[in-house]
Amino acid sequence: MPDTSQPTIHSEAPADIGWRVVLPTVLPLVALFTFAVLLPLTDNEYWALITTRAAIYWVLVAGLNLVVGYAGQLAIGYVSLLTLGAYTTSVLAAGNVLPPLPTFVALAVAAVAGAVFGVVVGLPALRLRTFYFAMATLGFATIATQVALAWEGVTGGGIGISGPEMPAPFNTAWGFLYLCLALAALVTWATSNVAKSRFGRALIAVRDADVAAEANGISKPKLFVTIFLFSGAVAAVAGGLFASLQTYITPDAFTFELSLLFFIAVLIGGRGSILGPLIGTIILTILPEIAAPLAAWSTFLYAALLLIIVLAMPGGIAALLDFKNRKPLQSDRAIKPRPTLLGEILKRSGADRPMTLKGIVLTFGGVRAIDGLDLNIRPGQVHGLIGPNGSGKTTTLNVISGYYAPQEGEVRLNSPLARGAPETRAEHGIARTFQTPRIVGEASVIDNVMIGGWIEGQSSFVEALMSLPRHRQGERSLEAAARLALRAVGLEELADVRADRLQHSELRFVEIARALMLKPAFLLLDEPAAGLATDEIERLGQLIKEISRQGTGVLLVEHHADLIFDICDEVTVLNLGRVLANGTPAEIRVHKEVISAYLGA
Ligand code: ADP
Ligand code: MG
Repeated sequence: MPDTSQPTIHSEAPADIGWRVVLPTVLPLVALFTFAVLLPLTDNEYWALITTRAAIYWVLVAGLNLVVGYAGQLAIGYVSLLTLGAYTTSVLAAGNVLPPLPTFVALAVAAVAGAVFGVVVGLPALRLRTFYFAMATLGFATIATQVALAWEGVTGGGIGISGPEMPAPFNTAWGFLYLCLALAALVTWATSNVAKSRFGRALIAVRDADVAAEANGISKPKLFVTIFLFSGAVAAVAGGLFASLQTYITPDAFTFELSLLFFIAVLIGGRGSILGPLIGTIILTILPEIAAPLAAWSTFLYAALLLIIVLAMPGGIAALLDFKNRKPLQSDRAIKPRPTLLGEILKRSGADRPMTLKGIVLTFGGVRAIDGLDLNIRPGQVHGLIGPNGSGKTTTLNVISGYYAPQEGEVRLNSPLARGAPETRAEHGIARTFQTPRIVGEASVIDNVMIGGWIEGQSSFVEALMSLPRHRQGERSLEAAARLALRAVGLEELADVRADRLQHSELRFVEIARALMLKPAFLLLDEPAAGLATDEIERLGQLIKEISRQGTGVLLVEHHADLIFDICDEVTVLNLGRVLANGTPAEIRVHKEVISAYLGA
């Protein structure tokens, strides 16, 4: 029977939530920009200079924020792109290599150069972890100033070069301020669009739950190239503006301190926020001015400020402004799944053939974690996988989902699945949950669930950047689907709560909702009942059973024998990476070896 409550879910939620979420973030931005726009009333050109500088820094930091605050990459040497942009614009405008170009054309060329070098600077992030990547970006910063110093014929070497002159009406202090403010407003708008789009969610997923990101089909290399292209381009534009503001640039202008300033602005602003880092940039631009007598101490000041922030408010300014998540949650809440909604969610799921594992062998060093495993997971059935700790259950899931490439054997759907390519599994309709939930704690529950819909997304990065109609449409239907999935697992009331405020048992259901977003043909569950109360396990069982009734093949790794015997159609018992027994729950329950090796204990 069609569920009559459906249409309301689709229409009510987004419009209602929209304003409550948007207002607190948009209002401060509007106030800040209005304040800046009204500055000429003071007739104080000193303030024009400071504000222009803050706006220019923000153009760079806004892009860097996606790299540092969203993707979580420690790019501390981003001044290299400012240097590149400053010199490219200045040299092209001065006509040192080609005939002089108009300033805005030179800026556009700098943006392209910045995009390319943004990728060059950023790509080590795919191989280098945290600290090493940070060092690599610093290396580029040094290279950029050294090139500027050595390439005298073009850059003027240590003597420097004039910055580009702005055409009227941008050639006055106030005109230039307005230009920089307009660009600052533009990047604020664009990065806010990215942040709340599927790309922003993919970035924080890669940052905080990278295996979950891959399992949902998010390709980190592609995503990073896109982000580095964008942030490199805006950093170089900031460089061009910076050169114009300075009127004359030498390699000394591009210091390590400046690079630190950009990075710290994001940190004190808080990860995963646009407003926070903007305020951070403003503070760090003004700070040296009001502390002018302490100029020699500026590095020290930054360091002290950073320490205070890290120790006193680890979430940065953004956490201070996060009023929404202060409200205490109801303490006696229960998870009440609604399996009847699954029909609508899983509409076109279900494969026509089983997924088969044949002769899988996987060794870690000398240990045979899986030792010649055959398994058939049939559509529309719940297949239990049980066995003592260390028997290879999680490893089996990891082989199916592509995290491990087995030394022998293959996983087939219709054709053999690519070995060791986890980001390809989502397209095949294989979804999974994790033994330890992989959730982005700092994102809301609904955002976490929407990460599961990544491969459904049609819109390109540029469409997201500019919030074009097709993108907005896609986001709306994704959100409606995510709310429906949350309703199905019984968590819709917590949709807008930050995920790290949930209980462990609730996170397990969030993971199931995220997995449902794929409309999975096969669903792999790794100990979903661990840490759940008895009544919750019972409801979980009904939910899983109903998922399989919709045609999805479920592989259930579990320790709770009751759950396994209640809902499974077939059970495989593993021991030391080998199949000890395979059969119906009734057969397994009385299997002698199983009882002595596992159940009897
Ligand atoms: P479980 O059945 O409890 O889920 P696992 O699949 O996690 O067991 O582990 C199976 C065996 O493989 C264990 O002996 C474990 O120590 C080993 N193992 C699993 N992952 C790794 C790894 N990444 N490196 C080395 N050994 C591993
Ligand atoms: Mg395990």
